[in-house]
Amino acid sequence: VLTPIRSWHAELGWVAGAPAADVRLTAEGERLVRVETGVPRAEGDTRFRGLLLPGLVDAHSHAFHRALRGRTHAGGGDFWTWREAMYAVADALDPDRLRAVAVAAYAEMALAGVTAVGEFHYVHHRPGGRPYADPNAMGLALVDAAAEAGVRITLLDTCYLRGGVDGRPLDARQRRFGDGSAGAWAERVAALGDGGTGWRPGAAVHSVRAVEPAAMAEVAAFAAAHPMPLHLHLSEQPAENEDCLAATGRTPAALAADCDVLGPSTTAVHATHLTAADVDLLGATGTAVCLCPTTERDLADGIGPAADLVAAGSPLCLGSDSHAVVDLFEEARAVELDERLRTGRRGHHDPAALLAAATASGAASLGWDAGELAPGRLADFCVVDLSSPRLAGADPAQVVFAATAADVTDVVQGGEPVVRDRQHVRVADVGAAIRAAVAALPVP
Ligand SMILES: [Zn+2]
Repeated sequence: VLTPIRSWHAELGWVAGAPAADVRLTAEGERLVRVETGVPRAEGDTRFRGLLLPGLVDAHSHAFHRALRGRTHAGGGDFWTWREAMYAVADALDPDRLRAVAVAAYAEMALAGVTAVGEFHYVHHRPGGRPYADPNAMGLALVDAAAEAGVRITLLDTCYLRGGVDGRPLDARQRRFGDGSAGAWAERVAALGDGGTGWRPGAAVHSVRAVEPAAMAEVAAFAAAHPMPLHLHLSEQPAENEDCLAATGRTPAALAADCDVLGPSTTAVHATHLTAADVDLLGATGTAVCLCPTTERDLADGIGPAADLVAAGSPLCLGSDSHAVVDLFEEARAVELDERLRTGRRGHHDPAALLAAATASGAASLGWDAGELAPGRLADFCVVDLSSPRLAGADPAQVVFAATAADVTDVVQGGEPVVRDRQHVRVADVGAAIRAAVAALPVP
């Protein structure tokens, strides 16, 4: 079988952290083999007008939360009241409904320039907690959905064992999130094997609330042995910190460190309410931090100490989490804009650093050799239309502060076209797919 050789040419491309003119990419199969700048278009090159960027990476997703978009924002409440609506949707999922809402959510991501997603997956059992005939039926529905949508997926299969730091059992609606023990979780995840084309398994500790210390250590040991990325929700809410301190005398970050959960293969999601010692601990261990600013503001979570984390040594990546918004440019600039609101100053994160969070750092967090236009990397990229009403007149070096998902015209993943001229190549009508998937679920 001959490996297909493909080539593309763009007016501008983001190479080595800055826009370069007349960029030409060549791929053999799914990998880039040549990246040239300042060269004319050659015969056979696919031509792009606009700015070629590495594929965007959405490192933290719960695909089914997409059903709650535009439906939970009118009343009051907080994270915990929103969670009740989310649990009602989770309760109604089966592999077919999960696949449908995930195809819809991931196709929206593809249209937004996303080429890889980290799916934090915990609805893996039947309602009430019995396993499906194939214990990984739900996870494999997500893998199948990502393939349909043309997005690479790291299935962050999540260990979720108890209802709170005090050791209370899972409540009725949480039971389907649980494997019963870390050993049973590991056995199920091991059955996923090494993944396949466009997908790989990863591990997750839901939170220090949901997994007791000994089980956290087991999950961390499993992730290190296989090896695979490890993610956990960390200090999204002050209540988690208070409960953890009361029960263990430690902050969630310190407890996770004690259980060998932190390290360069680990990503802490949110990391919103940290002490200075927590920041130092995450940085010193090289733990990545995944911020989800549009969800954090939607759920009134707070603003995490992003600049302090970078200074301490933690790479930042980004996720759309609840999918209140699916726009990685918005997530990226929010990291800087939220710091401005908090500090009264501008210039904490430069545009290149924000784009790196949306690309290379996310890819590293999910275990993919992608996120840069460089030889040897996966041929995952997207094109932004610099002539759109939003971007006309903008300096291409600062595009992350002005672009939106609607400015993405073309997306290529593994050398294959996923979006052409703003049209998904496989999902003919993404809006209709989303509407149908949401209509099948008990949304508020
Ligand atoms: Zn989450």
